[in-house]
Amino acid sequence: MKQANHHPLAWIDCELAVLEEQGLRRRLLAREGPQAARLVIDGRELVHFGSNDYLGLAADRRLADAVIEVTRREGWGSGASPLLSGFARDHQRLQQRLAEFEGTEAALLFSSGFAANAGTIAALVGPGDVVFTDRTNHASLLDGCRLSRADVRVYPHCDSQRLDRLLAKSGKYRRRLITTDGVFSMDGDLAPLPELVELAERHDAMLMVDEAHATGVFGRRGRGVAEHLGVEDRVDIRVGTLSKALGCIGGFVAGSQPLIDWLLSHSRPYVFSTAGPAAAAAAAVVALDIVRDEPQRREGLLARAGQLCDALSEQGWNTANSASQIIPVIVGEPQRATELSAGLRDRGLFVPAIRPPTVPEGEARLRISLTGGHTDEMTAALLTALRELR
Ligand SMILES: *Cc1c(COP(=O)(O)O)cnc(C)c1O
Repeated sequence: MKQANHHPLAWIDCELAVLEEQGLRRRLLAREGPQAARLVIDGRELVHFGSNDYLGLAADRRLADAVIEVTRREGWGSGASPLLSGFARDHQRLQQRLAEFEGTEAALLFSSGFAANAGTIAALVGPGDVVFTDRTNHASLLDGCRLSRADVRVYPHCDSQRLDRLLAKSGKYRRRLITTDGVFSMDGDLAPLPELVELAERHDAMLMVDEAHATGVFGRRGRGVAEHLGVEDRVDIRVGTLSKALGCIGGFVAGSQPLIDWLLSHSRPYVFSTAGPAAAAAAAVVALDIVRDEPQRREGLLARAGQLCDALSEQGWNTANSASQIIPVIVGEPQRATELSAGLRDRGLFVPAIRPPTVPEGEARLRISLTGGHTDEMTAALLTALRELR
Protein backbone atom coordinates (compact mmCIF):
# COMPACT_ATOMS: atom_id res chain seq x y z
CA MET A 1 0.00 0.00 0.00
CA LYS A 2 1.25 3.49 -0.82
CA GLN A 3 2.07 5.48 2.27
CA ALA A 4 0.51 8.91 2.54
CA ASN A 5 3.81 10.65 3.25
CA HIS A 6 5.85 8.83 0.60
CA HIS A 7 7.02 11.41 -1.96
CA PRO A 8 10.02 9.88 -3.72
CA LEU A 9 10.25 12.73 -6.25
CA ALA A 10 9.82 15.56 -3.72
CA TRP A 11 13.53 16.40 -4.04
CA ILE A 12 12.88 17.57 -7.59
CA ASP A 13 10.62 20.39 -6.36
CA CYS A 14 13.41 21.57 -4.06
CA GLU A 15 16.05 21.39 -6.77
CA LEU A 16 13.84 23.24 -9.26
CA ALA A 17 13.27 25.99 -6.69
CA VAL A 18 17.05 26.35 -6.31
CA LEU A 19 17.48 26.62 -10.09
CA GLU A 20 14.70 29.19 -10.22
CA GLU A 21 16.40 31.27 -7.54
CA GLN A 22 19.73 31.15 -9.40
CA GLY A 23 18.06 32.17 -12.64
CA LEU A 24 19.14 28.87 -14.19
CA ARG A 25 15.84 27.11 -14.65
CA ARG A 26 15.25 26.38 -18.32
CA ARG A 27 11.98 26.60 -20.15
CA LEU A 28 10.83 25.71 -23.63
CA LEU A 29 9.63 28.44 -25.96
CA ALA A 30 7.66 27.17 -28.91
CA ARG A 31 8.59 28.68 -32.23
CA GLU A 32 5.77 29.47 -34.62
CA GLY A 33 6.38 28.81 -38.30
CA PRO A 34 9.54 27.55 -39.99
CA GLN A 35 13.11 27.76 -38.79
CA ALA A 36 14.42 30.78 -40.69
CA ALA A 37 16.25 34.09 -40.34
CA ARG A 38 13.10 35.54 -38.77
CA LEU A 39 11.49 33.91 -35.81
CA VAL A 40 8.04 34.39 -34.30
CA ILE A 41 7.89 34.00 -30.53
CA ASP A 42 4.85 35.04 -28.50
CA GLY A 43 3.37 36.53 -31.67
CA ARG A 44 6.37 38.82 -32.17
CA GLU A 45 8.72 38.62 -35.10
CA LEU A 46 12.42 38.77 -34.26
CA VAL A 47 15.53 38.55 -36.39
CA HIS A 48 16.95 35.21 -35.39
CA PHE A 49 20.61 34.87 -34.38
CA GLY A 50 20.09 31.67 -32.44
CA SER A 51 19.80 28.74 -34.82
CA ASN A 52 22.20 26.19 -36.29
CA ASP A 53 20.56 26.35 -39.69
CA TYR A 54 23.80 27.77 -41.08
CA LEU A 55 23.03 27.42 -44.78
CA GLY A 56 19.35 28.27 -44.53
CA LEU A 57 18.28 24.77 -45.62
CA ALA A 58 15.97 23.76 -42.74
CA ALA A 59 12.93 25.19 -44.50
CA ASP A 60 14.15 24.73 -48.09
CA ARG A 61 11.36 23.55 -50.39
CA ARG A 62 13.57 20.97 -52.10
CA LEU A 63 14.15 19.10 -48.85
CA ALA A 64 10.47 19.18 -47.98
CA ASP A 65 9.57 17.88 -51.45
CA ALA A 66 11.96 14.95 -51.07
CA VAL A 67 10.44 14.07 -47.70
CA ILE A 68 6.90 14.23 -49.06
CA GLU A 69 7.70 12.16 -52.12
CA VAL A 70 9.45 9.36 -50.24
CA THR A 71 6.89 9.39 -47.44
CA ARG A 72 4.06 9.00 -49.96
CA ARG A 73 5.84 6.05 -51.50
CA GLU A 74 7.24 4.32 -48.41
CA GLY A 75 5.43 5.75 -45.41
CA TRP A 76 7.08 7.48 -42.49
CA GLY A 77 8.25 5.03 -39.83
CA SER A 78 11.26 2.77 -40.38
CA GLY A 79 9.93 0.16 -37.98
CA ALA A 80 13.18 -1.43 -36.77
CA SER A 81 16.85 -0.90 -36.00
CA PRO A 82 19.09 -0.80 -39.08
CA LEU A 83 20.53 -4.28 -38.52
CA LEU A 84 17.07 -5.82 -38.40
CA SER A 85 14.89 -4.40 -41.16
CA GLY A 86 14.98 -0.63 -40.59
CA PHE A 87 17.72 0.02 -43.15
CA ALA A 88 16.22 1.07 -46.49
CA ARG A 89 17.59 1.93 -49.94
CA ASP A 90 17.44 5.62 -49.11
CA HIS A 91 19.68 5.08 -46.06
CA GLN A 92 22.09 3.10 -48.20
CA ARG A 93 22.15 5.83 -50.85
CA LEU A 94 22.76 8.46 -48.18
CA GLN A 95 25.66 6.51 -46.65
CA GLN A 96 27.25 6.18 -50.09
CA ARG A 97 26.76 9.90 -50.69
CA LEU A 98 28.24 10.75 -47.29
CA ALA A 99 31.34 8.66 -48.01
CA GLU A 100 31.70 10.38 -51.40
CA PHE A 101 31.14 13.79 -49.82
CA GLU A 102 33.80 13.12 -47.19
CA GLY A 103 36.16 11.33 -49.56
CA THR A 104 36.30 8.27 -47.30
CA GLU A 105 35.79 4.56 -47.93
CA ALA A 106 32.57 4.41 -45.99
CA ALA A 107 30.14 6.22 -43.72
CA LEU A 108 27.59 5.18 -41.12
CA LEU A 109 24.36 6.97 -40.31
CA PHE A 110 23.27 7.49 -36.68
CA SER A 111 19.99 8.86 -35.38
CA SER A 112 21.73 12.02 -34.15
CA GLY A 113 25.14 13.62 -33.90
CA PHE A 114 24.95 13.03 -30.18
CA ALA A 115 24.50 9.30 -30.69
CA ALA A 116 27.28 9.23 -33.30
CA ASN A 117 29.78 10.84 -30.93
CA ALA A 118 28.89 8.96 -27.78
CA GLY A 119 28.45 5.66 -29.61
CA THR A 120 31.73 5.94 -31.50
CA ILE A 121 33.97 6.77 -28.55
CA ALA A 122 32.45 3.98 -26.47
CA ALA A 123 33.03 1.51 -29.32
CA LEU A 124 36.67 2.50 -29.85
CA VAL A 125 38.05 2.58 -26.32
CA GLY A 126 37.28 0.79 -23.07
CA PRO A 127 38.87 -0.21 -19.78
CA GLY A 128 42.66 -0.26 -20.18
CA ASP A 129 42.53 2.53 -22.80
CA VAL A 130 42.76 6.29 -22.48
CA VAL A 131 40.81 9.07 -24.19
CA PHE A 132 41.95 12.71 -24.40
CA THR A 133 39.30 15.39 -24.63
CA ASP A 134 39.47 19.19 -25.00
CA ARG A 135 37.95 20.91 -21.96
CA THR A 136 35.33 22.69 -24.07
CA ASN A 137 34.32 19.73 -26.22
CA HIS A 138 30.61 19.14 -26.76
CA ALA A 139 28.68 17.21 -24.10
CA SER A 140 28.20 14.25 -26.44
CA LEU A 141 31.97 13.73 -26.65
CA LEU A 142 32.36 13.95 -22.90
CA ASP A 143 29.47 11.55 -22.35
CA GLY A 144 31.07 9.14 -24.83
CA CYS A 145 34.29 9.29 -22.82
CA ARG A 146 32.45 8.48 -19.60
CA LEU A 147 30.40 5.75 -21.23
CA SER A 148 33.50 4.06 -22.59
CA ARG A 149 34.95 3.42 -19.10
CA ALA A 150 38.37 4.26 -20.52
CA ASP A 151 40.54 6.63 -18.45
CA VAL A 152 39.68 10.21 -19.39
CA ARG A 153 42.28 13.00 -19.63
CA VAL A 154 40.86 16.48 -20.09
CA TYR A 155 43.31 18.95 -21.63
CA PRO A 156 42.98 22.77 -21.52
CA HIS A 157 41.20 24.31 -24.50
CA CYS A 158 43.28 23.91 -27.70
CA ASP A 159 46.44 23.36 -25.63
CA SER A 160 48.48 21.04 -27.87
CA GLN A 161 51.59 21.29 -25.71
CA ARG A 162 49.74 20.04 -22.69
CA LEU A 163 48.18 17.29 -24.76
CA ASP A 164 51.66 16.33 -25.99
CA ARG A 165 52.83 15.92 -22.37
CA LEU A 166 49.76 13.87 -21.44
CA LEU A 167 50.27 11.62 -24.46
CA ALA A 168 53.92 11.15 -23.57
CA LYS A 169 52.81 9.61 -20.28
CA SER A 170 50.25 7.26 -21.81
CA GLY A 171 52.54 4.41 -22.85
CA LYS A 172 50.98 1.94 -20.43
CA TYR A 173 47.60 2.06 -22.14
CA ARG A 174 46.44 -0.36 -24.83
CA ARG A 175 44.84 2.32 -27.07
CA ARG A 176 44.85 6.10 -27.16
CA LEU A 177 42.08 8.26 -28.64
CA ILE A 178 42.10 12.05 -29.04
CA THR A 179 38.70 13.70 -29.46
CA THR A 180 38.00 17.28 -30.40
CA ASP A 181 35.35 19.51 -31.87
CA GLY A 182 36.38 21.05 -35.21
CA VAL A 183 34.53 24.33 -34.53
CA PHE A 184 33.85 24.79 -30.81
CA SER A 185 30.18 25.42 -30.06
CA MET A 186 30.50 28.21 -27.52
CA ASP A 187 33.64 30.05 -28.68
CA GLY A 188 33.33 29.60 -32.44
CA ASP A 189 37.07 28.99 -32.68
CA LEU A 190 38.82 26.19 -34.57
CA ALA A 191 40.73 23.23 -33.20
CA PRO A 192 44.48 23.25 -34.01
CA LEU A 193 44.07 20.20 -36.22
CA PRO A 194 47.49 20.29 -37.96
CA GLU A 195 49.08 20.03 -34.50
CA LEU A 196 46.64 17.37 -33.35
CA VAL A 197 47.22 15.10 -36.36
CA GLU A 198 50.95 15.44 -35.81
CA LEU A 199 50.57 14.47 -32.14
CA ALA A 200 48.29 11.56 -32.98
CA GLU A 201 50.79 10.22 -35.48
CA ARG A 202 53.77 10.69 -33.19
CA HIS A 203 52.10 9.07 -30.17
CA ASP A 204 50.27 6.32 -32.03
CA ALA A 205 46.83 7.65 -31.10
CA MET A 206 43.54 7.63 -33.00
CA LEU A 207 42.11 11.06 -33.80
CA MET A 208 38.38 11.76 -33.89
CA VAL A 209 37.09 15.17 -35.00
CA ASP A 210 33.48 16.23 -34.46
CA GLU A 211 32.62 18.56 -37.34
CA ALA A 212 29.04 19.24 -36.19
CA HIS A 213 29.29 23.02 -36.73
CA ALA A 214 31.61 22.72 -39.72
CA THR A 215 30.03 20.12 -42.02
CA GLY A 216 28.72 22.00 -45.04
CA VAL A 217 30.36 25.24 -43.86
CA PHE A 218 34.16 24.86 -43.84
CA GLY A 219 36.47 23.57 -46.52
CA ARG A 220 36.40 23.84 -50.29
CA ARG A 221 33.82 21.06 -50.56
CA GLY A 222 32.23 21.67 -47.19
CA ARG A 223 33.82 18.70 -45.46
CA GLY A 224 34.70 20.72 -42.39
CA VAL A 225 37.62 22.21 -40.54
CA ALA A 226 39.86 19.23 -41.33
CA GLU A 227 39.50 20.06 -45.02
CA HIS A 228 39.80 23.80 -44.37
CA LEU A 229 43.13 23.20 -42.62
CA GLY A 230 44.31 20.67 -45.20
CA VAL A 231 44.51 17.61 -42.94
CA GLU A 232 41.32 15.67 -43.69
CA ASP A 233 43.22 12.62 -44.94
CA ARG A 234 45.03 12.39 -41.62
CA VAL A 235 41.91 12.43 -39.43
CA ASP A 236 40.96 8.79 -38.86
CA ILE A 237 37.44 9.31 -37.54
CA ARG A 238 35.30 12.14 -38.84
CA VAL A 239 31.92 12.80 -37.26
CA GLY A 240 29.35 15.15 -38.66
CA THR A 241 25.73 16.00 -38.21
CA LEU A 242 22.95 16.39 -40.75
CA SER A 243 20.96 18.53 -38.33
CA LYS A 244 22.83 21.83 -38.49
CA ALA A 245 24.06 23.27 -41.80
CA LEU A 246 22.35 20.49 -43.75
CA GLY A 247 18.96 21.36 -42.29
CA CYS A 248 17.95 17.71 -41.70
CA ILE A 249 18.26 15.26 -38.82
CA GLY A 250 20.78 12.56 -37.94
CA GLY A 251 24.52 12.18 -37.42
CA PHE A 252 27.22 10.25 -39.24
CA VAL A 253 30.71 8.86 -38.97
CA ALA A 254 33.00 8.77 -42.03
CA GLY A 255 36.22 6.80 -42.28
CA SER A 256 37.75 3.54 -43.40
CA GLN A 257 35.64 0.48 -44.20
CA PRO A 258 37.00 -1.46 -41.19
CA LEU A 259 36.13 1.45 -38.87
CA ILE A 260 32.56 1.52 -40.18
CA ASP A 261 32.27 -2.28 -40.00
CA TRP A 262 33.43 -2.20 -36.40
CA LEU A 263 30.96 0.54 -35.40
CA LEU A 264 28.16 -1.28 -37.17
CA SER A 265 28.70 -4.28 -34.89
CA HIS A 266 29.79 -2.57 -31.67
CA SER A 267 28.26 0.86 -31.30
CA ARG A 268 25.34 0.43 -28.96
CA PRO A 269 23.38 3.56 -29.98
CA TYR A 270 23.65 2.25 -33.52
CA VAL A 271 22.72 -1.35 -32.84
CA PHE A 272 19.95 -0.73 -30.32
CA SER A 273 18.10 2.23 -31.80
CA THR A 274 15.51 2.45 -34.56
CA ALA A 275 16.63 3.74 -37.95
CA GLY A 276 15.39 7.20 -38.90
CA PRO A 277 12.73 7.54 -41.58
CA ALA A 278 13.90 6.74 -45.12
CA ALA A 279 12.35 10.07 -46.12
CA ALA A 280 14.73 11.92 -43.78
CA ALA A 281 17.65 10.17 -45.47
CA ALA A 282 16.33 11.20 -48.89
CA ALA A 283 16.15 14.84 -47.74
CA ALA A 284 19.77 14.67 -46.57
CA VAL A 285 20.85 13.50 -50.04
CA VAL A 286 19.18 16.60 -51.49
CA ALA A 287 20.96 18.76 -48.88
CA LEU A 288 24.31 17.24 -49.92
CA ASP A 289 23.51 18.09 -53.55
CA ILE A 290 22.88 21.69 -52.50
CA VAL A 291 26.14 21.83 -50.53
CA ARG A 292 27.97 20.59 -53.62
CA ASP A 293 26.18 22.80 -56.14
CA GLU A 294 25.83 26.03 -54.18
CA PRO A 295 29.22 26.76 -52.57
CA GLN A 296 28.27 30.43 -52.47
CA ARG A 297 26.11 29.63 -49.47
CA ARG A 298 29.05 28.70 -47.24
CA GLU A 299 31.36 31.30 -48.76
CA GLY A 300 28.82 34.07 -48.16
CA LEU A 301 28.18 32.90 -44.61
CA LEU A 302 31.84 32.92 -43.60
CA ALA A 303 32.48 36.26 -45.31
CA ARG A 304 29.56 37.83 -43.42
CA ALA A 305 30.75 36.27 -40.16
CA GLY A 306 34.25 37.68 -40.62
CA GLN A 307 32.86 41.17 -41.24
CA LEU A 308 30.54 41.02 -38.24
CA CYS A 309 33.30 39.79 -35.98
CA ASP A 310 35.62 42.62 -37.06
CA ALA A 311 32.89 45.22 -36.57
CA LEU A 312 32.13 43.90 -33.06
CA SER A 313 35.81 44.07 -32.12
CA GLU A 314 35.93 47.65 -33.41
CA GLN A 315 33.05 48.48 -31.07
CA GLY A 316 35.18 47.06 -28.26
CA TRP A 317 33.40 43.75 -27.65
CA ASN A 318 35.32 40.61 -26.72
CA THR A 319 34.66 38.02 -29.42
CA ALA A 320 37.40 35.67 -28.14
CA ASN A 321 39.02 33.74 -31.00
CA SER A 322 35.94 33.28 -33.12
CA ALA A 323 36.81 32.27 -36.67
CA SER A 324 33.44 30.90 -37.73
CA GLN A 325 29.74 31.64 -38.06
CA ILE A 326 29.48 31.30 -34.26
CA ILE A 327 30.47 34.58 -32.64
CA PRO A 328 30.52 34.92 -28.86
CA VAL A 329 30.28 38.32 -27.20
CA ILE A 330 31.83 37.63 -23.82
CA VAL A 331 30.64 40.01 -21.10
CA GLY A 332 31.51 38.18 -17.87
CA GLU A 333 28.60 38.27 -15.45
CA PRO A 334 25.41 36.32 -16.20
CA GLN A 335 23.18 39.31 -15.35
CA ARG A 336 24.95 41.45 -17.96
CA ALA A 337 24.46 38.77 -20.61
CA THR A 338 20.78 38.42 -19.73
CA GLU A 339 20.29 42.22 -19.79
CA LEU A 340 21.92 42.53 -23.18
CA SER A 341 19.86 39.67 -24.57
CA ALA A 342 16.67 41.34 -23.25
CA GLY A 343 17.75 44.72 -24.68
CA LEU A 344 18.31 43.16 -28.09
CA ARG A 345 14.96 41.45 -27.91
CA ASP A 346 13.26 44.80 -27.24
CA ARG A 347 14.90 45.96 -30.46
CA GLY A 348 13.56 42.99 -32.42
CA LEU A 349 16.67 40.81 -32.31
CA PHE A 350 16.90 37.32 -30.84
CA VAL A 351 20.39 36.55 -29.48
CA PRO A 352 20.58 33.97 -26.67
CA ALA A 353 22.51 34.62 -23.46
CA ILE A 354 24.74 31.70 -22.44
CA ARG A 355 25.58 31.38 -18.77
CA PRO A 356 27.49 29.01 -16.50
CA PRO A 357 27.55 26.05 -16.26
CA THR A 358 27.32 25.93 -20.07
CA VAL A 359 30.38 28.23 -20.14
CA PRO A 360 32.98 28.78 -17.37
CA GLU A 361 32.27 31.18 -14.44
CA GLY A 362 32.99 34.78 -15.44
CA GLU A 363 32.53 34.06 -19.13
CA ALA A 364 28.80 34.61 -19.60
CA ARG A 365 28.12 35.79 -23.10
CA LEU A 366 25.82 36.44 -25.98
CA ARG A 367 26.14 33.79 -28.64
CA ILE A 368 25.48 35.07 -32.14
CA SER A 369 25.07 32.46 -34.82
CA LEU A 370 24.76 33.51 -38.42
CA THR A 371 22.69 31.56 -40.89
CA GLY A 372 22.03 31.50 -44.61
CA GLY A 373 19.03 33.83 -44.57
CA HIS A 374 20.69 36.78 -42.87
CA THR A 375 21.04 39.99 -44.87
CA ASP A 376 23.37 42.98 -44.54
CA GLU A 377 20.46 44.94 -43.06
CA MET A 378 20.00 42.35 -40.32
CA THR A 379 23.63 42.35 -39.20
CA ALA A 380 23.69 46.15 -39.44
CA ALA A 381 20.66 46.29 -37.12
CA LEU A 382 22.45 44.01 -34.67
CA LEU A 383 25.55 46.23 -34.68
CA THR A 384 23.47 49.38 -34.15
CA ALA A 385 21.60 47.82 -31.24
CA LEU A 386 24.78 46.57 -29.59
CA ARG A 387 26.39 50.00 -29.92
CA GLU A 388 23.39 51.54 -28.15
CA LEU A 389 23.51 48.93 -25.40
CA ARG A 390 27.21 49.20 -24.76
C1 LIG B 1 24.91 19.84 -31.96
C2 LIG B 1 26.19 19.15 -31.72
C3 LIG B 1 26.23 17.76 -31.65
C4 LIG B 1 25.01 16.91 -31.68
O1 LIG B 1 24.45 16.83 -32.94
P1 LIG B 1 22.88 16.49 -33.07
O2 LIG B 1 22.74 16.01 -34.44
O3 LIG B 1 22.17 17.76 -32.77
O4 LIG B 1 22.59 15.44 -32.04
C5 LIG B 1 27.47 17.17 -31.53
N1 LIG B 1 28.59 17.90 -31.44
C6 LIG B 1 28.57 19.25 -31.46
C7 LIG B 1 29.85 20.01 -31.38
C8 LIG B 1 27.37 19.90 -31.59
O5 LIG B 1 27.34 21.24 -31.59
